[in-house]
Amino acid sequence: MNSSRFFTLKEARIGNNCPECYSNDSLELTFKQKLTETRFYKAITDETISEIRCLNCDVQIFPIRWTDEIEQVVNYHKRALKTKSKSTKLKPIAWGLMAFGIIVLVAIILFATGVFS
Ligand SMILES: [Zn+2]
Repeated sequence: MNSSRFFTLKEARIGNNCPECYSNDSLELTFKQKLTETRFYKAITDETISEIRCLNCDVQIFPIRWTDEIEQVVNYHKRALKTKSKSTKLKPIAWGLMAFGIIVLVAIILFATGVFS
C-alpha cells in the first residue's frame, strides 16, 4: 500500500476571464498539498499544486492556458498561502516493529555476552 493524494488547502474565486468561455466570475482557484501514505507512515510533503476550474463551462484550466493576469493572481494567492508544515507520522504497526526489533537486538546482545548461557 503506497499512495499519495492531495488535500485542499485553500479555495478562492478569482475575477479573471475564463480563457474558454470568457465568463468573468466563474474561475475557482484551488491549492492542494501532497500527502503520501504507506503501510508504516503518513507524511505531509512540502509539494503544493494549484488548479483552476471554471464553474461556468466546467472545465479545468491547465497552466498552459493561463493568461498573464491569471498567473499574477495565482502568484499573489500563493504568497499568502499557509501550507501545513512537513511532517511524518509513524503508524502503530511501525512502532510495533521497532519495539520488536529492539527486543530482538537486546536478546541477541544478552546471548552474545553470555548473560544467558
Ligand atoms: Zn469557462
